[in-house]
Amino acid sequence: MDDLKFGKRNKRGDWAPDAHLEIAPFWALPPNPLKVLAWLPGYFLPWNLLFAASAVVWWHWIIPDRMVMQTLAWGWVLWLFAVNAAAVFVFYGLFELRLYVQRGQGTRFKYNAKWPSEQPSDAFWFRSQNLDNFLRCFGVGLPSWTAVQVGFLYAYANGYVPWLSFAENPVYLALVALLVPVIHEAHFFVIHRLIHIEPLYKWVHSVHHNSVNPSPWSSLSMHPVEALAYFAVALWHLVLPSNPLLALYQLHYAGFGAVVGHIGFDKMELGPETAIDSHAYAHYLHHKHFDVNFGDGLVPLDKLFGSWHDGSPEGERRMQARYEKKKARANAAAIRKGA
Ligand SMILES: [Zn+2]
Ligand SMILES: [Zn+2]
Repeated sequence: MDDLKFGKRNKRGDWAPDAHLEIAPFWALPPNPLKVLAWLPGYFLPWNLLFAASAVVWWHWIIPDRMVMQTLAWGWVLWLFAVNAAAVFVFYGLFELRLYVQRGQGTRFKYNAKWPSEQPSDAFWFRSQNLDNFLRCFGVGLPSWTAVQVGFLYAYANGYVPWLSFAENPVYLALVALLVPVIHEAHFFVIHRLIHIEPLYKWVHSVHHNSVNPSPWSSLSMHPVEALAYFAVALWHLVLPSNPLLALYQLHYAGFGAVVGHIGFDKMELGPETAIDSHAYAHYLHHKHFDVNFGDGLVPLDKLFGSWHDGSPEGERRMQARYEKKKARANAAAIRKGA
């Protein structure tokens, strides 16, 4: 595919899309129902539907019986860990293999022309982003994922929280299912914004930001505090009356969904004229500039707090202006302290 029909490449070889990022249209004022209707298929396809389907598969074939989960035991906990880890290895691995190992589409639609495997750095274990990210993904990300999963399944199995049935509450639970991405975005925005504040940034979140040029294994390469806070999004289904299947969907949305923001490519080519959108640009800009796009634009929180960067020159100017203001404030504070 000709990626220059969709964007531009700069002197360094970095590609950027022509279309600017947009906040989800259902927040627009005045309301624009036609735009919302046109946007909806992309909201569900392919990613949201895939993560919801994966939760159904887990529920039917992987999750143990309620009786088993009433007691904490290594058997079922390790079983869940093994299945989660295998699934991530295959799912993330497919992107890694196609885009980064085989380099199946070269640097077409690639935001950063460089390849992490060719950029050794002291920021990483063994000076290798791939190895560092891979080890953290499976050594920190997956245990945190499974810990949260075990936590909510144990709570449901023991009747500590309401377990609504789909037969009796079809409309309410369908609504909760539709809100899963919104819950994710709001939760992620809040914890993400918090861990950008010092000293939490230095202690916790800098681990994830070591990957300025993220690739699939970077997705869950996190400090344990961040990983637990990130997956804790599924625990909203213990606060909100819900069903364990929806808690599982919420967990998968966070776990499998993380790779979508860290692919490093705007589109994944499937054939000469077909490709799937990754929707990774907002989060790519976050990794590049740190101080913008704490969320992905599904909920307009970045817009509200002035940290939204839509990829346009205007967005760049807004970011620079904020940065100058912040620097001036820091300088003024330093002068006051010194006086
Ligand atoms: Zn990230
Ligand atoms: Zn961040």
